[in-house]
Amino acid sequence: MNERMCPSCHQKMAEGYKIKVNTYGALKLEPGRTKPGEIAAGVCPVCGQIALYLQK
Ligand SMILES: [Zn+2]
Repeated sequence: MNERMCPSCHQKMAEGYKIKVNTYGALKLEPGRTKPGEIAAGVCPVCGQIALYLQK
């Protein structure tokens, strides 16, 4: 997997997150593996920018 850089501050993004929906309907990120076809997420540890991508 290519390393993704934050588009705002150009730091290396922490990857390996997936999106969860809590009982109130709010989205949150949790560390976890994603299967092909699921949406994975990376987050910038500096500014909090989130990148979503389709797991290949
Ligand atoms: Zn950033």
